Amino acid sequence: MHIFDTLAEQGHEQIVFFSYEGLRAIVAIHNTIMGPALGGLRMWPYASEDDALNDVLRLSRGMTYKAAVSGLNLGGGKAVLIGDPEKDKSEGLFRAFGRFIGSLGGRYITAEDVGTDVEDMEYVFQETDRVVGVHPVHGGSGDPSPYTAFGTMQGIRACLNRKYGHTEAGKASFSVQGAGHVGAHVVRMLRKEGAKVFVCDINDERVQHVVDEYGAEPVPLDDIYDVDAKVFVPCALGGVINADTVERLKVDVVAGSANNQLESENWGTELEKRGIVYAPDYAINAGGLINVAIELQGYNADRAYAHVAKIYNNIDNIFQIAERDGISAWQAADRLAEERIAQISKVKAPFSLRFKDRLSGRTPKYSA
Ligand code: NAD
Repeated sequence: MHIFDTLAEQGHEQIVFFSYEGLRAIVAIHNTIMGPALGGLRMWPYASEDDALNDVLRLSRGMTYKAAVSGLNLGGGKAVLIGDPEKDKSEGLFRAFGRFIGSLGGRYITAEDVGTDVEDMEYVFQETDRVVGVHPVHGGSGDPSPYTAFGTMQGIRACLNRKYGHTEAGKASFSVQGAGHVGAHVVRMLRKEGAKVFVCDINDERVQHVVDEYGAEPVPLDDIYDVDAKVFVPCALGGVINADTVERLKVDVVAGSANNQLESENWGTELEKRGIVYAPDYAINAGGLINVAIELQGYNADRAYAHVAKIYNNIDNIFQIAERDGISAWQAADRLAEERIAQISKVKAPFSLRFKDRLSGRTPKYSA
């Protein structure tokens, strides 16, 4: 891999490799124009170092867009830890990782992600305050999924408004794929508004839970794409909007929390050609990121919900840009993020501790 060419191609600022006593971690800082780069720590048994590097480069870039489109004063970054989360975790590993990211001078802030959890973040927090999503007793924000679900509901409302000129979920029907952390909350909120909700999950217990608790209607896994509902809500996997499913979906709206819903971006355009409104995934599912970002200012749940509620306006704004510029919603989301970064980059250099220390509110001695 030609490292500098790769960095320049996608606009990354920095890659840092950490190696210590079995710790093999890569931190990618994509862009810090808006503020310090925030993104989770993924632990995964990558088949090769190239796979790990490609993943962290891709994910960190995605975080820049998600933060920018959500109006946060944060940049995009991500970390990967090469290892098996089932076997290779230890206190020493996460404390070493904490010391290393502490050495980055605040340019990167970590959080939990696939393969890591709040316990791991507690170890990181022993060594550095450059971590969010720690336990509530330490001023952390706890489980992000209710916020992601609440944000997803706001995005759904913006889509309903776009398609039908009203925002009442109770007047529509929904097919929800995945009844996990986010999906179950979405089902609860939709049912509370009186909507008809169909649901599937590979885990039967989770389906049963939302059937018993909220009165959702179960459907077999693969039938979820064929359900006669108005809105498809992907809350499980990526890549679910593809050649096969686009042909089958009968809905008017696709709006859910899953990451990377479009197998490739052209399927976002294809949905719109068929008259289906699509809420760009990284904009509608930003509630969890917005919630942890509030930790940096001193956590307050009401403030977090108030900020997450703005996802309605963000999605609506994206639709307006799409209309203004004659482009698809997924392109409009990218444009909104890029325009914000470009505007701020005119007045600001990349983040460093020369600027206000956003985590603690202290201005370091060596600050300008
Ligand atoms: P989760 O693991 O709690 O739930 C996912 C559910 O999907 C599980 O119940 C799983 O059994 C089910 N599932 C897996 N494969 C499936 C399939 N083929 N068909 C139907 N169901 C299937 O995860 P989550 O935290 O609820 O996140 C859901 C999605 O939202 C993920 O794509 C995640 O990346 C994204 N997301 C979550 C958050 C958050 O705050 N948790 C934030 C942003 C994005």
